[in-house]
Amino acid sequence: MAQKNNDEQFKNVISHAKEYGFVFQSSEIYDGLSAVYDYGQLGAELKNNIKSYWWKAMVQMHENIVGIDSAIFMHPKIWKASGHVDGFNDPMIDNKDSNKRYRADQLLENKIDELYSEVAGFSDENKTKFGNFKAEILGLSDEGQASWIPNFIDKEDILNEAEYPFVNEASWRFVKKGLALEVEMNLALKAEDLGRLKDLIVDYKVICPISKTSNWTDVRQFNLMFSTQFGAMAEGSDEVYLRPETAQGIFVNFLNVQKSGRMKIPFGIAQIGKAFRNEVIARQFIMRMREFEQMEMQFFVRPGEDKKWFEYWKEARLKWHKALGTPDDKYRFHDHVKLAHYANAATDIEFEFPFGFKEVEGIHSRTDFDLTQHQEFSGKKMQYFDNDLNEDGKPYGNYVPYVIETSIGLDRMFLLTMINAFEEQDLSTDDKQDSRTLLRLHPALAPYKVAVFPLTKKDGLPEKAREIMDTLKFDFNCIYEEKDAIGKRYRRQDAIGTPFCLTIDHQSLEDNTVTIRHRDSMEQERVAIADLSSIIGKAVSWKNLLA
Ligand code: ATP
Repeated sequence: MAQKNNDEQFKNVISHAKEYGFVFQSSEIYDGLSAVYDYGQLGAELKNNIKSYWWKAMVQMHENIVGIDSAIFMHPKIWKASGHVDGFNDPMIDNKDSNKRYRADQLLENKIDELYSEVAGFSDENKTKFGNFKAEILGLSDEGQASWIPNFIDKEDILNEAEYPFVNEASWRFVKKGLALEVEMNLALKAEDLGRLKDLIVDYKVICPISKTSNWTDVRQFNLMFSTQFGAMAEGSDEVYLRPETAQGIFVNFLNVQKSGRMKIPFGIAQIGKAFRNEVIARQFIMRMREFEQMEMQFFVRPGEDKKWFEYWKEARLKWHKALGTPDDKYRFHDHVKLAHYANAATDIEFEFPFGFKEVEGIHSRTDFDLTQHQEFSGKKMQYFDNDLNEDGKPYGNYVPYVIETSIGLDRMFLLTMINAFEEQDLSTDDKQDSRTLLRLHPALAPYKVAVFPLTKKDGLPEKAREIMDTLKFDFNCIYEEKDAIGKRYRRQDAIGTPFCLTIDHQSLEDNTVTIRHRDSMEQERVAIADLSSIIGKAVSWKNLLA
């Protein structure tokens, strides 16, 4: 039941986003372009505010972090050096009857979920027992994350030797099979054994949801980078890539920034920008897009101090998320078992979306991998001279710095923010049915900070309202509305998250006061026009988030 409510809630958020001009399907009048979205008039404002929050928290609040804006096009060798040309792949498989393409690991994960579905029928006690058993088999830590992958577990061992007498034999058979499959899939993914992935798909009778057949191609690696031709003439021009991450633009500018900014290690370089990935399957609205935006920061540290800074940024980034008022249990860390080729530690900050806990941000300890690779591929030194003294009283000298990266998807953060803020409130009383849709956005993030309403369209009220708006608009994004009854105007602003509405009435002309109405409490109070700036300013100040 909870699942259904979640689905419903997610659908409501998506339609709300469209109805009020937050997010539109790209190229909608041409039936859309899959996994590409446009941000509308309110979406662009909200997105800009999320960017500002991140930029201020990272750049403005840290003396040793500066921001850049590097180009999307970069020398093609960069992607060779970074490992993306050879390694930025997903295992994919096609069904020959439906001609649909899938990610092999996701097909298997769906199968595992299906086999685990029996667990829903277990008693609470047996659910716990099963959870512990599964944790043991899969090598899970207390937080439910895989802290290690068993090097070898014989499938037969699990199926035959596991004694689990707490549930009926039939449902246990399914669950046991799910466990065996999960272990085997993890092993095959870790070994990048594509043949084994295909075997698992066949052995476990995974069928295409569309054709309902198991007529599969082999599993192949599919590179996620988009490429295009550089230069006016197709002939003789070079192939370049649309960047799949913003990080490499930071790495290749490491020395430019360090030297021109006289930066001393430890220091960071931040960047916000578009990234492009030809995702095999894109779904869940703006969760997985082919064109998206990242907010990344690379923090350059002394070798050996990477672990310390990794822990620092883990905590600092979670704090940034929680400052928005999100309940603690909505977030968790997911430590990686299978580390990317460049990392010695990695964790995801996951948020509980209506479709489960999913990654919003990655924190990666990337060692000196990227800078060393660029040093090798470009032939240019990527070293830093550290004249601080070490324990022996000697300068640390020349080295290639280690890097801790924080990488958050702006669009996922946007989705998270909308989901968190969206609320359908029942305001019914004994004698009246009533409700409102509310976007409980943090005031600093709200697209409009204040809506200005003349009570009526006559008697000089619109002029007075305009006059107030003309003084407020220098500091706050304001919206003016004179159509419809006041109640209806309030509801519309609630739905787009405007924290304050001002109503200008006849009394305003006499004593220079207005009614200010608060979005969340719906309380109204009479205040002097002269005080508006400070009341609104306090509520929407970045200081509330950054301090
Ligand atoms: P996933 O496992 O979900 O594909 P990832 O581990 O490949 O993500 P990273 O390469 O670590 O992601 O990128 C950093 C962040 O960029 C992610 O945490 C996510 O918020 C965002 N991101 C990555 N791919 C997409 C995408 N296709 N659409 C939207 N955001 C994305």
